[in-house]
Amino acid sequence: MLSDIEIAQNAEMYPIGKIAAELSIAEEDIEYYGHYKAKLSEQLFQKLDSKPNGKLILVTAINPTPAGEGKTTVSVGLADALHQIGKKTVLALREPSLGPVFGIKGGAAGGGYAQVVPMEDINLHFTGDMHAITSANNLLCAMLDNHMQQGNVLRIDQRRVMLKRVLDMNDRALRNIVIGLGGKVDGIPRSDSFQITVASEVMAILCLASDLADLKERLGKILVAYDLDGNPVYAKDLGANGAMTALLKDALKPNLVQTLEHTPALIHGGPFANIAHGCNSIRATKLALKLGDYCVTEAGFGSDLGAEKFFDIKCRYGGLKPDCVVLVATVRALKYNGGVPKTELTTENLDALKKGIVNLQVHIENMKKYGVPVVVAINRFQCDTDAELHFIQEFCESLGAEFALTEVFAKGGAGGKELAEKVCKTIETKPSNFHVLYDTELSVEEKVEKIAKEIYRADGVTFTAPAKKALAQINALGCGNLPVCVAKTQYSLSDDAAKLGKPEHFTITVRDVTLSNGAGFVVVLTGNIMTMPGLPKAPSALKIDCDNNGNITGLF
Ligand code: ADP
Ligand code: MG
Repeated sequence: MLSDIEIAQNAEMYPIGKIAAELSIAEEDIEYYGHYKAKLSEQLFQKLDSKPNGKLILVTAINPTPAGEGKTTVSVGLADALHQIGKKTVLALREPSLGPVFGIKGGAAGGGYAQVVPMEDINLHFTGDMHAITSANNLLCAMLDNHMQQGNVLRIDQRRVMLKRVLDMNDRALRNIVIGLGGKVDGIPRSDSFQITVASEVMAILCLASDLADLKERLGKILVAYDLDGNPVYAKDLGANGAMTALLKDALKPNLVQTLEHTPALIHGGPFANIAHGCNSIRATKLALKLGDYCVTEAGFGSDLGAEKFFDIKCRYGGLKPDCVVLVATVRALKYNGGVPKTELTTENLDALKKGIVNLQVHIENMKKYGVPVVVAINRFQCDTDAELHFIQEFCESLGAEFALTEVFAKGGAGGKELAEKVCKTIETKPSNFHVLYDTELSVEEKVEKIAKEIYRADGVTFTAPAKKALAQINALGCGNLPVCVAKTQYSLSDDAAKLGKPEHFTITVRDVTLSNGAGFVVVLTGNIMTMPGLPKAPSALKIDCDNNGNITGLF
C-alpha cells in the first residue's frame, strides 16, 4: 500500500469553490486561500441562523497506544461513508499543530484512504491560523514585559507572571529560559518558559468564542499576572485585547477543505487535549451542523479526556447536543491495555486481548452516563487476526453494544458503510438524552471528584498543598464556578500512564490548579503534563524533504 502522503498527492481534488457550491454557499461568502482551501465569511453564520441543525456525531476512543488509534482516520472515513450512502455530511476537525509533525507522531489529517487534503498544507502552515495565534499570544507577552520596563504602573510582580510565550515547534530548550538579560534598556530579567502554541489559552479561547465580540472579551479576561499586593492583572488592564483581536480576525473564520472523496471538511482550531479541551472550534461545529444533515467531529485522546471535555466544556458552552458517540477501538490498543509492550502489538495475543478488553467496557459505560447512544468502531489494522476481531465483536454483543468493523484506512468510505448505517439507525431509533456530568455550581473539588469517580473510576482525589493554595486564590477571584479541564495522561484512566486496562484502588493526585479565565475553565493538573514537547533522537524531520519543484516527500 502507498504511504499516506503518496495517496494524498495522487488524489484529484476539486476546486474548493465546487465543494462550497455543493453546500449552497454563495461566492461572496468564500474567501479563497489558493485553489483548495477557503475561509468562510462571518455573514454566512447569520444567513444560516434560522436553518435547523443536523445530527451531531462525536468520534472518540478507548485509551490509546502512543501511536494513536485512528480517531481522525475513522472520522474522515465515516464522513465519506455517510456521503456514499447519500447523507449530506460535513466534517469538523482540529487543525494539526506543526511542531509534532516533525517529531514522532506525524500529522493529523487522517490516514490511508481516509484523509483530508491538501494534507501537506493542512499539516504545515495551512491558512496561517496557528501563526496568528502565536503572534497574538506573544504580542500580549511583549506588552506585559514592556509595561514592567516602562515604569510598571500596574505594579506587576515579575515573580508572579502567569502568561507564557508560545511557539508551534517541539523545542525542549525553550521550556525554562531567562529573558531580559543585557543592560537597562533590554528589559527586566526574569525566568520564563515557552509552551507549544496549541497549549495556549489563546487557542482555547479561539475555539470557544462565539464571534469577534466574544473573542475580544475573552482575550481581555486572560489572567496574565498578579501585582505586588496579590491582585489579578488581566490582558485588558494592559490594553492588549483589541490588538490581539486584530491579529485573530481571520483566524476566527473556519477553514473549508475536502476529503479524498470530496466530502466537505471544516478544519478549525486545535487545542491540546490535556492542558486544554482538545476539540475543534465551536464555530466550525455549529457551521457544519447548519451546512449538512450530519456533522462528524472528533475529540482528542481517549473518551476519559477528550469526550469528557467535549461534553462538559464544549457542548456546555456551545449549547450543543450530540446525537451519537462513535467509540474507536483497535486490537492493538486493547492488547496494549492487556499489558503487551508496544513492540509486540502486531502478533496475535488473545490472552492479552481478554485482559485489555475491560478498557473498552469502561469507555462504553462512561459514554452512556452522558445519555448519548454509542456505536463501537473497530478500526481494522492489517495485522489483526480474525480470531482477535471475532473476540471483540463477541464482547460487544455480550454487552448489547452496537459495533461495526471499519476498514476505512484501506478502503476509504466503502470500508465504513456498515458503521455509517449503524450510526444512522442508532440516531433514528435511539434518541439522545444528552446531559452534562456535573453542575458548575459544585466546588472545584466536588467537580473533580465527580469526574474522577464516575469517569476514571478512582476511589477519590487528593489535592497537594500547592494545589490547595492555588485553588484558594482562584476561589477568591470568584472563579470556582467554572467547568474544570483535567490535564491527565492519555494512556491510563488513572493519572499514572503505567496503569493500563481498568485500574482499581487508586486515587487521583492534583498537584496544581491554574485559571484559564478567558477560556472559562479551571485547569486541574495531575501527573507531569508536558506543555512544550521535545523532539526524539531521530525526528521525522530527518525524512521530510522538498524537491526542486516544491513537492514535499516523507511527511509520513
Ligand atoms: P488519532 O486521531 O486517534 O490520533 P489518527 O487517525 O491520526 O489517530 O491515526 C494515527 C496513525 O495511525 C496515523 O498515522 C494513521 O495513518 C494510522 N492509522 C489509523 N488507522 C489505521 C489502520 N486501520 N491501519 C493502519 N494505520 C492506521
Ligand atoms: Mg486525531
